[in-house]
Amino acid sequence: MADWWHVAAASAVGTLVCILLSLLFDLDAVIALPEDRRATELLNHAVVPFVIAFPNFLLASWKITQLRVARRALEVLAMTDGLTGTLNRRAFACQVDEKLSRPLKGGRPARVDALMIIDVDHFKRVNDTFGHEVGDQALQAVASAVATSLPPRALFGRLGGEEFAIFMQNTEQSVATLAAEKIRLAVAACDFKADGAIYPLSVSVGVASAHDAHSFRDLYHHADACLYAAKDDGRNRVVARHLGERMHAVA
Ligand code: GH3
Ligand code: MG
Ligand code: MG
Repeated sequence: MADWWHVAAASAVGTLVCILLSLLFDLDAVIALPEDRRATELLNHAVVPFVIAFPNFLLASWKITQLRVARRALEVLAMTDGLTGTLNRRAFACQVDEKLSRPLKGGRPARVDALMIIDVDHFKRVNDTFGHEVGDQALQAVASAVATSLPPRALFGRLGGEEFAIFMQNTEQSVATLAAEKIRLAVAACDFKADGAIYPLSVSVGVASAHDAHSFRDLYHHADACLYAAKDDGRNRVVARHLGERMHAVA
């Protein structure tokens, strides 16, 4: 609807400009005409540009609108993970880099930002037992469970395979750790069915928070180390670390 308004408005404005230009160029000649012919000539100067310009403006602005809509759709497609509908790795990393707190001039940075890496436990078993298609369904179930427990304004993406990530801007480590714990419990309670029976899914989560992370890679490196610690500790748990403090397990 809004697109049609754009097309109509652009065509009307373009045509009006053509009519005004046509009148302007010939104004002296029209004024010099006898009064009985002036009205007809003025009408000609409006009708001819209208007949020529309006359909062309209509066509051109409709094509431009179609291109704009297609570009918008392509932008969304390029940012989205096809299986789960979350942000893909590239879009997620770019958006995190844009949102990371920059240190204040000569002073302490204003906020703490946190990154969570979520990895499905023993996911290969799902594929090996039920096949790749059921594995894909399990990934969708995990993404849905995580989405239901997502903190407000958090970024959620799939980094690849069975690994997801959440970025929380301006979030202290304790808050991020509680959010991670909520997500872990949500996945554990998601009742995923494979071959008609409930198959228990779980995730391990690494959380890193920092005042001065320079980039997504920076924060990812530390969150990934926490994830490995969670796997080593037996999986289905959260390990969090505020950069500069020692690592500690929560669940
Ligand atoms: P861990 O608890 O240590 O994380 O073990 P894991 O089995 O989850 O991890 P591993 O890295 O051994 O296996 C991950 C598997 O995920 C292997 C790969 O085939 C599978 N995988 C990666 N991407 C996809 C996908 O898009 N769909 C499906 N169905 N499987 C995928
Ligand atoms: Mg895994
Ligand atoms: Mg993995």
